[in-house]
Amino acid sequence: MYIDGEWCEAASGNRFEVTNPATGDVIGDVPDGGAADATRAVEAADRAFGAWSSTTAYERADLLYRAWQLMTERSAELAELMTREQGKPLKASAAEVKYGADFLRWYAEEATRVAGEWLPSARADQRFLVLKQPVGVVAAITPWNYPMSMLTRKMGPALAAGCTLVLKAAEATPLCAQAIFGVFADAGAPAGVVNLVTALDPKPIGEVFTTDERVRKLTFTGSTPVGKMLAGQAAGNLKRVSVELGGHAPFVVFPDADPEHAAKGAAALKFLNSGQACISPNRLYVHESGRDAFVETLVERIGRVKAGNGMDDGVGVGPLVNDAAVAKVARQVDDARAKGAGVPVGGQRLTGDGFDAGHFYAPTLVTDVTDDMLIRCEETFGPVAPVITYGDGDDVLAMANDTNYGLAAYVYTNDLSTAMRTFEGLRFGIVGINDVNPTSAAAPFGGMGDSGLGREGGRDGIAEYLEVKLGGFAI
Ligand code: NAD
Repeated sequence: MYIDGEWCEAASGNRFEVTNPATGDVIGDVPDGGAADATRAVEAADRAFGAWSSTTAYERADLLYRAWQLMTERSAELAELMTREQGKPLKASAAEVKYGADFLRWYAEEATRVAGEWLPSARADQRFLVLKQPVGVVAAITPWNYPMSMLTRKMGPALAAGCTLVLKAAEATPLCAQAIFGVFADAGAPAGVVNLVTALDPKPIGEVFTTDERVRKLTFTGSTPVGKMLAGQAAGNLKRVSVELGGHAPFVVFPDADPEHAAKGAAALKFLNSGQACISPNRLYVHESGRDAFVETLVERIGRVKAGNGMDDGVGVGPLVNDAAVAKVARQVDDARAKGAGVPVGGQRLTGDGFDAGHFYAPTLVTDVTDDMLIRCEETFGPVAPVITYGDGDDVLAMANDTNYGLAAYVYTNDLSTAMRTFEGLRFGIVGINDVNPTSAAAPFGGMGDSGLGREGGRDGIAEYLEVKLGGFAI
Protein backbone atom coordinates (compact mmCIF):
# COMPACT_ATOMS: atom_id res chain seq x y z
CA MET A 1 0.00 0.00 0.00
CA TYR A 2 1.12 3.59 -0.33
CA ILE A 3 0.53 5.68 2.80
CA ASP A 4 2.13 8.98 3.82
CA GLY A 5 4.63 8.84 0.98
CA GLU A 6 5.85 5.27 1.77
CA TRP A 7 5.14 1.85 0.29
CA CYS A 8 4.06 -0.30 3.24
CA GLU A 9 2.52 -3.56 4.42
CA ALA A 10 -0.86 -3.93 6.12
CA ALA A 11 -0.87 -3.60 9.91
CA SER A 12 -1.92 -7.26 10.09
CA GLY A 13 1.02 -8.30 7.87
CA ASN A 14 -1.43 -10.28 5.68
CA ARG A 15 -1.33 -10.32 1.90
CA PHE A 16 -3.66 -11.67 -0.80
CA GLU A 17 -3.05 -13.07 -4.27
CA VAL A 18 -4.01 -11.57 -7.60
CA THR A 19 -4.83 -13.85 -10.56
CA ASN A 20 -4.95 -13.47 -14.32
CA PRO A 21 -8.61 -13.99 -15.35
CA ALA A 22 -7.57 -15.49 -18.71
CA THR A 23 -5.24 -18.17 -17.33
CA GLY A 24 -5.93 -18.49 -13.61
CA ASP A 25 -2.21 -17.88 -12.96
CA VAL A 26 -1.25 -16.02 -9.80
CA ILE A 27 0.49 -12.86 -11.02
CA GLY A 28 1.29 -11.19 -7.73
CA ASP A 29 0.22 -10.53 -4.17
CA VAL A 30 -0.56 -7.33 -2.29
CA PRO A 31 -1.16 -6.20 1.32
CA ASP A 32 -4.54 -7.10 2.77
CA GLY A 33 -5.40 -3.88 4.56
CA GLY A 34 -8.05 -3.29 7.21
CA ALA A 35 -9.68 -0.52 9.22
CA ALA A 36 -6.41 0.41 11.01
CA ASP A 37 -4.64 0.94 7.67
CA ALA A 38 -7.53 2.97 6.27
CA THR A 39 -7.50 5.16 9.38
CA ARG A 40 -3.74 5.66 9.13
CA ALA A 41 -4.19 6.69 5.47
CA VAL A 42 -6.94 9.16 6.42
CA GLU A 43 -4.66 10.63 9.12
CA ALA A 44 -1.88 11.08 6.57
CA ALA A 45 -4.23 12.73 4.07
CA ASP A 46 -5.57 15.00 6.81
CA ARG A 47 -2.05 16.05 7.88
CA ALA A 48 -1.10 16.78 4.27
CA PHE A 49 -4.24 18.77 3.48
CA GLY A 50 -3.14 22.10 4.97
CA ALA A 51 0.04 22.38 2.93
CA TRP A 52 -1.40 20.88 -0.29
CA SER A 53 -4.50 23.07 -0.28
CA SER A 54 -2.23 26.12 0.18
CA THR A 55 -0.12 25.40 -2.91
CA THR A 56 -0.78 27.53 -5.95
CA ALA A 57 -2.91 26.11 -8.73
CA TYR A 58 0.23 26.21 -10.89
CA GLU A 59 2.13 23.93 -8.48
CA ARG A 60 -0.77 21.47 -8.45
CA ALA A 61 -0.93 21.60 -12.24
CA ASP A 62 2.81 20.84 -12.40
CA LEU A 63 2.35 17.62 -10.41
CA LEU A 64 -0.53 16.52 -12.65
CA TYR A 65 1.46 17.31 -15.81
CA ARG A 66 4.40 15.27 -14.51
CA ALA A 67 2.07 12.38 -13.68
CA TRP A 68 0.51 12.61 -17.18
CA GLN A 69 3.94 12.56 -18.75
CA LEU A 70 5.07 9.52 -16.72
CA MET A 71 1.85 7.64 -17.43
CA THR A 72 2.32 8.34 -21.13
CA GLU A 73 5.96 7.24 -21.07
CA ARG A 74 4.97 4.03 -19.26
CA SER A 75 1.91 3.34 -21.41
CA ALA A 76 3.19 0.07 -22.94
CA GLU A 77 4.07 -1.53 -19.60
CA LEU A 78 0.89 -0.22 -17.96
CA ALA A 79 -1.23 -1.68 -20.78
CA GLU A 80 0.46 -5.05 -20.48
CA LEU A 81 -0.10 -5.13 -16.73
CA MET A 82 -3.76 -4.22 -17.25
CA THR A 83 -4.30 -7.05 -19.72
CA ARG A 84 -2.67 -9.57 -17.40
CA GLU A 85 -4.63 -8.43 -14.36
CA GLN A 86 -7.99 -7.41 -15.83
CA GLY A 87 -8.10 -9.40 -19.09
CA LYS A 88 -9.07 -6.86 -21.75
CA PRO A 89 -7.24 -7.10 -25.10
CA LEU A 90 -3.91 -5.27 -25.20
CA LYS A 91 -5.19 -2.67 -27.66
CA ALA A 92 -8.11 -1.87 -25.36
CA SER A 93 -5.75 -1.61 -22.38
CA ALA A 94 -3.58 0.84 -24.32
CA ALA A 95 -6.70 2.90 -25.11
CA GLU A 96 -7.65 2.94 -21.43
CA VAL A 97 -4.15 4.04 -20.37
CA LYS A 98 -4.45 6.94 -22.82
CA TYR A 99 -7.97 7.79 -21.60
CA GLY A 100 -6.77 7.59 -17.99
CA ALA A 101 -3.78 9.84 -18.68
CA ASP A 102 -6.06 12.36 -20.41
CA PHE A 103 -7.73 13.12 -17.07
CA LEU A 104 -4.37 14.10 -15.58
CA ARG A 105 -3.55 16.49 -18.41
CA TRP A 106 -7.04 17.94 -18.61
CA TYR A 107 -7.19 18.62 -14.86
CA ALA A 108 -3.63 19.99 -14.88
CA GLU A 109 -5.06 22.62 -17.21
CA GLU A 110 -8.31 23.03 -15.29
CA ALA A 111 -6.50 23.54 -11.96
CA THR A 112 -5.55 27.02 -13.10
CA ARG A 113 -9.09 27.90 -14.21
CA VAL A 114 -10.91 27.48 -10.89
CA ALA A 115 -12.13 31.00 -10.36
CA GLY A 116 -14.56 32.72 -8.02
CA GLU A 117 -17.03 35.51 -8.67
CA TRP A 118 -17.65 39.11 -7.69
CA LEU A 119 -21.42 39.60 -7.34
CA PRO A 120 -23.49 42.77 -7.30
CA SER A 121 -25.38 43.57 -4.12
CA ALA A 122 -28.61 45.52 -3.60
CA ARG A 123 -26.81 47.54 -0.90
CA ALA A 124 -24.48 50.29 -2.00
CA ASP A 125 -22.15 49.62 0.94
CA GLN A 126 -21.89 45.87 0.34
CA ARG A 127 -19.77 43.63 -1.93
CA PHE A 128 -20.11 39.88 -2.43
CA LEU A 129 -17.15 37.64 -3.18
CA VAL A 130 -17.61 33.95 -4.05
CA LEU A 131 -14.58 31.81 -3.35
CA LYS A 132 -14.04 28.14 -4.37
CA GLN A 133 -12.07 26.05 -1.90
CA PRO A 134 -11.19 22.32 -1.76
CA VAL A 135 -13.66 20.21 0.24
CA GLY A 136 -10.90 18.49 2.25
CA VAL A 137 -9.87 14.84 2.52
CA VAL A 138 -11.47 12.70 -0.21
CA ALA A 139 -12.10 8.97 0.14
CA ALA A 140 -12.36 7.11 -3.17
CA ILE A 141 -13.47 3.56 -3.99
CA THR A 142 -12.95 2.23 -7.52
CA PRO A 143 -14.01 -0.82 -9.59
CA TRP A 144 -12.01 -3.45 -11.50
CA ASN A 145 -13.46 -3.01 -14.98
CA TYR A 146 -11.50 0.18 -15.81
CA PRO A 147 -8.71 -0.29 -13.27
CA MET A 148 -6.63 2.77 -14.16
CA SER A 149 -8.91 5.38 -15.71
CA MET A 150 -11.46 5.16 -12.88
CA LEU A 151 -8.62 6.16 -10.52
CA THR A 152 -7.28 9.08 -12.54
CA ARG A 153 -10.83 10.34 -13.22
CA LYS A 154 -11.05 10.94 -9.44
CA MET A 155 -7.42 11.77 -8.63
CA GLY A 156 -7.04 14.38 -11.38
CA PRO A 157 -9.86 16.71 -10.28
CA ALA A 158 -9.39 16.05 -6.54
CA LEU A 159 -5.72 17.05 -6.63
CA ALA A 160 -6.34 19.95 -9.00
CA ALA A 161 -8.94 21.31 -6.57
CA GLY A 162 -6.45 21.12 -3.68
CA CYS A 163 -7.86 18.02 -1.94
CA THR A 164 -5.81 15.14 -0.58
CA LEU A 165 -7.02 11.61 -1.19
CA VAL A 166 -7.25 8.08 0.15
CA LEU A 167 -8.20 5.40 -2.37
CA LYS A 168 -9.30 1.81 -1.97
CA ALA A 169 -8.73 -0.17 -5.15
CA ALA A 170 -10.89 -3.07 -6.31
CA GLU A 171 -9.68 -6.41 -4.93
CA ALA A 172 -9.42 -7.90 -8.45
CA THR A 173 -7.08 -5.19 -9.77
CA PRO A 174 -4.79 -3.82 -7.02
CA LEU A 175 -1.66 -4.10 -9.18
CA CYS A 176 -3.03 -1.57 -11.67
CA ALA A 177 -3.75 0.75 -8.74
CA GLN A 178 -0.20 0.31 -7.42
CA ALA A 179 1.12 1.23 -10.86
CA ILE A 180 -0.92 4.46 -10.89
CA PHE A 181 0.27 5.36 -7.39
CA GLY A 182 3.82 4.58 -8.57
CA VAL A 183 3.31 7.24 -11.22
CA PHE A 184 2.27 9.80 -8.58
CA ALA A 185 5.10 8.81 -6.24
CA ASP A 186 7.65 9.23 -9.04
CA ALA A 187 6.01 12.48 -10.16
CA GLY A 188 6.82 13.88 -6.70
CA ALA A 189 3.47 13.94 -4.90
CA PRO A 190 4.20 15.21 -1.36
CA ALA A 191 3.75 12.66 1.45
CA GLY A 192 0.11 12.10 2.37
CA VAL A 193 -1.37 13.81 -0.69
CA VAL A 194 -2.30 10.48 -2.32
CA ASN A 195 -2.72 7.28 -0.32
CA LEU A 196 -3.60 3.76 -1.49
CA VAL A 197 -5.18 1.00 0.57
CA THR A 198 -5.61 -2.52 -0.84
CA ALA A 199 -7.88 -5.05 0.85
CA LEU A 200 -9.61 -8.32 0.14
CA ASP A 201 -12.58 -7.38 2.33
CA PRO A 202 -13.77 -3.87 1.40
CA LYS A 203 -16.33 -3.47 4.22
CA PRO A 204 -14.09 -2.26 7.08
CA ILE A 205 -12.45 0.25 4.74
CA GLY A 206 -15.84 1.50 3.57
CA GLU A 207 -16.87 1.98 7.19
CA VAL A 208 -13.81 4.13 7.95
CA PHE A 209 -14.36 6.15 4.76
CA THR A 210 -18.01 6.87 5.57
CA THR A 211 -17.68 7.52 9.30
CA ASP A 212 -14.27 9.14 9.95
CA GLU A 213 -14.90 12.84 10.59
CA ARG A 214 -11.77 13.87 8.72
CA VAL A 215 -13.12 12.51 5.43
CA ARG A 216 -15.19 15.28 3.85
CA LYS A 217 -16.18 13.58 0.61
CA LEU A 218 -16.81 10.07 -0.67
CA THR A 219 -16.47 9.32 -4.36
CA PHE A 220 -17.45 5.82 -5.45
CA THR A 221 -17.61 3.97 -8.76
CA GLY A 222 -19.13 0.51 -8.75
CA SER A 223 -22.41 -1.35 -8.53
CA THR A 224 -25.72 0.29 -7.62
CA PRO A 225 -26.45 -1.72 -4.43
CA VAL A 226 -23.01 -1.00 -2.91
CA GLY A 227 -23.13 2.64 -4.06
CA LYS A 228 -26.56 3.16 -2.46
CA MET A 229 -25.41 1.60 0.79
CA LEU A 230 -22.19 3.67 0.99
CA ALA A 231 -23.91 6.89 -0.10
CA GLY A 232 -26.46 6.31 2.67
CA GLN A 233 -23.77 5.80 5.31
CA ALA A 234 -21.78 8.81 4.13
CA ALA A 235 -24.79 11.09 3.81
CA GLY A 236 -25.77 10.14 7.38
CA ASN A 237 -22.53 11.80 8.44
CA LEU A 238 -23.15 14.72 6.03
CA LYS A 239 -20.22 14.00 3.79
CA ARG A 240 -20.33 15.14 0.20
CA VAL A 241 -21.10 12.14 -2.00
CA SER A 242 -20.73 11.31 -5.67
CA VAL A 243 -21.49 7.83 -6.95
CA GLU A 244 -21.06 6.48 -10.49
CA LEU A 245 -23.10 3.27 -10.63
CA GLY A 246 -24.54 0.64 -12.95
CA GLY A 247 -26.45 1.10 -16.17
CA HIS A 248 -28.87 -0.56 -18.59
CA ALA A 249 -28.29 1.37 -21.77
CA PRO A 250 -30.85 1.42 -24.58
CA PHE A 251 -29.61 1.60 -28.18
CA VAL A 252 -32.42 2.79 -30.46
CA VAL A 253 -32.35 2.34 -34.23
CA PHE A 254 -35.01 4.49 -35.87
CA PRO A 255 -36.60 3.40 -39.18
CA ASP A 256 -34.80 6.16 -41.12
CA ALA A 257 -31.34 4.97 -39.99
CA ASP A 258 -29.16 2.54 -41.94
CA PRO A 259 -29.59 -0.70 -39.94
CA GLU A 260 -26.27 -2.15 -41.13
CA HIS A 261 -24.33 0.95 -40.08
CA ALA A 262 -26.11 0.89 -36.70
CA ALA A 263 -25.35 -2.83 -36.25
CA LYS A 264 -21.66 -2.20 -36.91
CA GLY A 265 -21.71 0.50 -34.23
CA ALA A 266 -23.54 -1.81 -31.82
CA ALA A 267 -21.05 -4.64 -32.40
CA ALA A 268 -18.06 -2.33 -31.85
CA LEU A 269 -19.56 -0.96 -28.64
CA LYS A 270 -21.13 -4.06 -27.10
CA PHE A 271 -18.01 -6.21 -26.96
CA LEU A 272 -15.67 -3.56 -25.55
CA ASN A 273 -14.19 -4.91 -22.32
CA SER A 274 -16.25 -8.11 -22.91
CA GLY A 275 -19.38 -6.04 -22.23
CA GLN A 276 -18.12 -5.21 -18.73
CA ALA A 277 -18.79 -1.49 -19.03
CA CYS A 278 -21.38 0.62 -17.25
CA ILE A 279 -22.26 2.28 -20.59
CA SER A 280 -22.52 -1.01 -22.50
CA PRO A 281 -25.82 -1.25 -24.45
CA ASN A 282 -28.15 -3.73 -22.76
CA ARG A 283 -31.23 -3.29 -24.98
CA LEU A 284 -30.91 -2.90 -28.76
CA TYR A 285 -34.28 -1.58 -30.03
CA VAL A 286 -34.58 -1.90 -33.79
CA HIS A 287 -37.60 -0.97 -35.90
CA GLU A 288 -39.17 -3.99 -37.61
CA SER A 289 -38.38 -2.54 -41.06
CA GLY A 290 -34.63 -2.79 -40.40
CA ARG A 291 -34.65 -5.78 -38.07
CA ASP A 292 -33.42 -8.46 -40.50
CA ALA A 293 -30.56 -6.38 -41.90
CA PHE A 294 -29.57 -5.34 -38.36
CA VAL A 295 -29.56 -8.92 -37.04
CA GLU A 296 -27.74 -10.31 -40.11
CA THR A 297 -24.99 -7.72 -39.78
CA LEU A 298 -24.67 -8.42 -36.05
CA VAL A 299 -24.48 -12.18 -36.64
CA GLU A 300 -21.73 -11.65 -39.19
CA ARG A 301 -19.79 -9.19 -36.99
CA ILE A 302 -20.11 -11.29 -33.83
CA GLY A 303 -19.00 -14.38 -35.73
CA ARG A 304 -15.77 -12.56 -36.51
CA VAL A 305 -14.98 -11.58 -32.90
CA LYS A 306 -12.18 -13.76 -31.57
CA ALA A 307 -12.32 -14.58 -27.85
CA GLY A 308 -9.19 -15.47 -25.93
CA ASN A 309 -6.26 -14.23 -23.89
CA GLY A 310 -6.00 -10.46 -24.38
CA MET A 311 -2.23 -10.78 -24.89
CA ASP A 312 -2.76 -12.77 -28.10
CA ASP A 313 -2.91 -11.08 -31.49
CA GLY A 314 -6.33 -10.56 -33.00
CA VAL A 315 -8.28 -11.22 -29.79
CA GLY A 316 -11.28 -8.90 -29.57
CA VAL A 317 -12.94 -10.27 -26.43
CA GLY A 318 -11.10 -11.29 -23.28
CA PRO A 319 -12.29 -13.19 -20.22
CA LEU A 320 -14.88 -12.05 -17.69
CA VAL A 321 -13.66 -11.05 -14.26
CA ASN A 322 -14.53 -14.31 -12.44
CA ASP A 323 -16.74 -17.38 -12.49
CA ALA A 324 -19.63 -15.61 -10.79
CA ALA A 325 -19.72 -13.17 -13.73
CA VAL A 326 -19.83 -16.05 -16.24
CA ALA A 327 -22.62 -17.69 -14.22
CA LYS A 328 -24.64 -14.44 -14.20
CA VAL A 329 -24.38 -14.07 -17.98
CA ALA A 330 -25.28 -17.75 -18.52
CA ARG A 331 -28.32 -17.40 -16.24
CA GLN A 332 -29.61 -14.39 -18.21
CA VAL A 333 -29.09 -16.05 -21.61
CA ASP A 334 -30.60 -19.38 -20.47
CA ASP A 335 -33.59 -17.53 -19.01
CA ALA A 336 -34.13 -15.65 -22.30
CA ARG A 337 -33.81 -18.85 -24.32
CA ALA A 338 -36.32 -20.66 -22.07
CA LYS A 339 -38.78 -17.78 -22.55
CA GLY A 340 -38.60 -17.94 -26.35
CA ALA A 341 -35.64 -15.77 -27.40
CA GLY A 342 -33.47 -16.76 -30.36
CA VAL A 343 -29.72 -17.22 -29.88
CA PRO A 344 -28.24 -17.28 -33.41
CA VAL A 345 -24.62 -16.83 -32.25
CA GLY A 346 -22.84 -17.84 -29.03
CA GLY A 347 -24.95 -18.65 -25.99
CA GLN A 348 -22.51 -20.76 -24.01
CA ARG A 349 -19.47 -20.71 -21.81
CA LEU A 350 -16.28 -21.21 -23.83
CA THR A 351 -14.43 -24.38 -22.92
CA GLY A 352 -11.40 -26.29 -24.17
CA ASP A 353 -7.77 -25.38 -24.64
CA GLY A 354 -7.02 -21.77 -23.78
CA PHE A 355 -10.40 -21.31 -22.07
CA ASP A 356 -10.75 -23.84 -19.25
CA ALA A 357 -8.41 -22.12 -16.80
CA GLY A 358 -10.04 -18.69 -17.39
CA HIS A 359 -13.55 -17.23 -17.26
CA PHE A 360 -14.84 -17.04 -20.83
CA TYR A 361 -18.31 -16.63 -22.29
CA ALA A 362 -18.90 -16.65 -26.07
CA PRO A 363 -19.81 -13.38 -27.80
CA THR A 364 -23.56 -13.81 -28.05
CA LEU A 365 -26.61 -12.42 -29.84
CA VAL A 366 -30.07 -12.82 -28.29
CA THR A 367 -33.08 -11.86 -30.44
CA ASP A 368 -36.81 -11.41 -29.78
CA VAL A 369 -36.18 -10.25 -26.22
CA THR A 370 -39.38 -9.54 -24.27
CA ASP A 371 -40.20 -7.65 -21.07
CA ASP A 372 -40.43 -10.79 -18.91
CA MET A 373 -36.77 -11.76 -19.47
CA LEU A 374 -34.06 -11.07 -16.87
CA ILE A 375 -31.76 -9.60 -19.51
CA ARG A 376 -34.39 -6.95 -20.25
CA CYS A 377 -33.97 -5.42 -16.77
CA GLU A 378 -30.75 -6.66 -15.09
CA GLU A 379 -27.36 -5.22 -15.96
CA THR A 380 -25.60 -8.05 -17.87
CA PHE A 381 -21.92 -7.07 -17.70
CA GLY A 382 -20.98 -9.62 -20.32
CA PRO A 383 -20.58 -10.09 -24.10
CA VAL A 384 -24.28 -10.45 -24.93
CA ALA A 385 -26.24 -8.24 -27.34
CA PRO A 386 -30.02 -8.44 -26.71
CA VAL A 387 -32.26 -7.30 -29.59
CA ILE A 388 -35.84 -6.07 -29.15
CA THR A 389 -37.98 -5.40 -32.24
CA TYR A 390 -40.52 -2.57 -32.19
CA GLY A 391 -43.17 -1.43 -34.64
CA ASP A 392 -44.92 1.76 -35.75
CA GLY A 393 -47.43 1.52 -32.91
CA ASP A 394 -44.76 1.44 -30.21
CA ASP A 395 -43.50 4.45 -28.29
CA VAL A 396 -39.82 3.55 -28.45
CA LEU A 397 -38.76 6.56 -26.37
CA ALA A 398 -40.96 5.32 -23.50
CA MET A 399 -39.56 1.80 -23.97
CA ALA A 400 -35.99 3.12 -23.79
CA ASN A 401 -36.79 5.13 -20.66
CA ASP A 402 -38.43 2.13 -18.96
CA THR A 403 -35.63 1.44 -16.45
CA ASN A 404 -34.53 2.76 -13.07
CA TYR A 405 -31.03 3.22 -14.46
CA GLY A 406 -30.09 6.36 -16.38
CA LEU A 407 -26.45 6.32 -17.42
CA ALA A 408 -25.91 6.01 -21.19
CA ALA A 409 -28.23 5.75 -24.20
CA TYR A 410 -27.55 5.55 -27.94
CA VAL A 411 -29.66 6.64 -30.88
CA TYR A 412 -29.29 6.01 -34.61
CA THR A 413 -31.26 8.31 -36.90
CA ASN A 414 -30.66 10.54 -39.91
CA ASP A 415 -33.47 12.89 -39.01
CA LEU A 416 -32.43 16.04 -37.15
CA SER A 417 -35.72 16.54 -35.39
CA THR A 418 -35.88 12.87 -34.25
CA ALA A 419 -32.30 13.21 -32.98
CA MET A 420 -33.08 16.38 -31.05
CA ARG A 421 -36.41 15.20 -29.61
CA THR A 422 -34.92 11.87 -28.54
CA PHE A 423 -31.84 13.52 -27.03
CA GLU A 424 -34.10 15.77 -24.97
CA GLY A 425 -36.56 13.01 -24.05
CA LEU A 426 -34.15 10.30 -22.88
CA ARG A 427 -33.67 10.21 -19.09
CA PHE A 428 -29.97 9.36 -19.27
CA GLY A 429 -26.86 11.35 -18.38
CA ILE A 430 -24.99 10.50 -21.59
CA VAL A 431 -26.55 10.16 -25.05
CA GLY A 432 -24.66 9.11 -28.17
CA ILE A 433 -26.37 10.25 -31.37
CA ASN A 434 -24.99 8.12 -34.21
CA ASP A 435 -21.98 7.94 -31.89
CA VAL A 436 -20.82 4.95 -29.87
CA ASN A 437 -18.09 6.72 -27.89
CA PRO A 438 -19.55 9.82 -26.22
CA THR A 439 -16.80 10.02 -23.57
CA SER A 440 -13.81 12.29 -23.04
CA ALA A 441 -11.82 13.79 -20.15
CA ALA A 442 -13.35 17.14 -21.15
CA ALA A 443 -16.97 15.92 -20.98
CA PRO A 444 -19.25 15.35 -17.97
CA PHE A 445 -19.81 11.64 -17.33
CA GLY A 446 -22.50 10.39 -14.98
CA GLY A 447 -25.99 9.08 -14.56
CA MET A 448 -29.50 9.80 -13.39
CA GLY A 449 -31.73 7.66 -11.17
CA ASP A 450 -30.12 4.42 -10.01
CA SER A 451 -27.02 5.20 -12.08
CA GLY A 452 -25.75 7.70 -9.57
CA LEU A 453 -25.19 11.20 -8.30
CA GLY A 454 -22.72 13.75 -9.60
CA ARG A 455 -20.50 13.94 -12.66
CA GLU A 456 -16.88 13.10 -13.42
CA GLY A 457 -14.79 14.70 -16.14
CA GLY A 458 -14.96 18.20 -17.54
CA ARG A 459 -15.76 21.34 -15.54
CA ASP A 460 -18.56 19.58 -13.63
CA GLY A 461 -16.05 16.96 -12.47
CA ILE A 462 -13.93 19.42 -10.49
CA ALA A 463 -16.97 21.16 -8.97
CA GLU A 464 -17.58 17.91 -7.02
CA TYR A 465 -14.36 18.62 -5.06
CA LEU A 466 -14.96 22.30 -4.34
CA GLU A 467 -16.83 24.12 -1.60
CA VAL A 468 -18.48 27.43 -2.49
CA LYS A 469 -17.83 30.15 0.09
CA LEU A 470 -19.58 33.52 0.12
CA GLY A 471 -17.95 36.61 1.57
CA GLY A 472 -20.16 39.62 2.29
CA PHE A 473 -18.05 42.78 2.68
CA ALA A 474 -19.54 45.97 4.13
CA ILE A 475 -17.39 48.85 2.91
P1 NAD B 1 -18.75 -3.39 -6.78
O1 NAD B 1 -19.78 -2.45 -6.29
O2 NAD B 1 -18.84 -4.81 -6.36
O3 NAD B 1 -17.30 -2.92 -6.34
C1 NAD B 1 -16.84 -1.61 -6.59
C2 NAD B 1 -15.88 -1.22 -5.50
O4 NAD B 1 -16.61 -1.18 -4.27
C3 NAD B 1 -14.73 -2.21 -5.28
O5 NAD B 1 -13.57 -1.49 -4.93
C4 NAD B 1 -15.21 -3.02 -4.09
O6 NAD B 1 -14.17 -3.55 -3.33
C5 NAD B 1 -15.96 -1.96 -3.31
N1 NAD B 1 -16.95 -2.49 -2.38
C6 NAD B 1 -17.78 -3.56 -2.55
N2 NAD B 1 -18.53 -3.73 -1.42
C7 NAD B 1 -18.15 -2.77 -0.55
C8 NAD B 1 -18.55 -2.43 0.78
N3 NAD B 1 -19.50 -3.12 1.42
N4 NAD B 1 -17.95 -1.38 1.39
C9 NAD B 1 -16.99 -0.67 0.74
N5 NAD B 1 -16.58 -0.95 -0.52
C10 NAD B 1 -17.16 -1.98 -1.15
O7 NAD B 1 -18.73 -3.22 -8.35
P2 NAD B 1 -17.77 -3.93 -9.38
O8 NAD B 1 -18.31 -5.28 -9.66
O9 NAD B 1 -16.35 -3.79 -8.98
O10 NAD B 1 -17.94 -2.97 -10.63
C11 NAD B 1 -18.92 -3.15 -11.56
C12 NAD B 1 -20.03 -2.15 -11.39
O11 NAD B 1 -19.49 -0.84 -11.49
C13 NAD B 1 -21.08 -2.24 -12.46
O12 NAD B 1 -22.35 -2.14 -11.92
C14 NAD B 1 -20.75 -1.04 -13.35
O13 NAD B 1 -21.85 -0.60 -14.10
C15 NAD B 1 -20.26 -0.04 -12.38
N6 NAD B 1 -19.42 0.98 -13.01
C16 NAD B 1 -19.93 2.23 -13.13
C17 NAD B 1 -19.19 3.22 -13.74
C18 NAD B 1 -19.73 4.61 -13.87
O14 NAD B 1 -18.95 5.52 -14.12
N7 NAD B 1 -21.02 4.82 -13.71
C19 NAD B 1 -17.91 2.94 -14.24
C20 NAD B 1 -17.42 1.64 -14.10
C21 NAD B 1 -18.20 0.67 -13.46
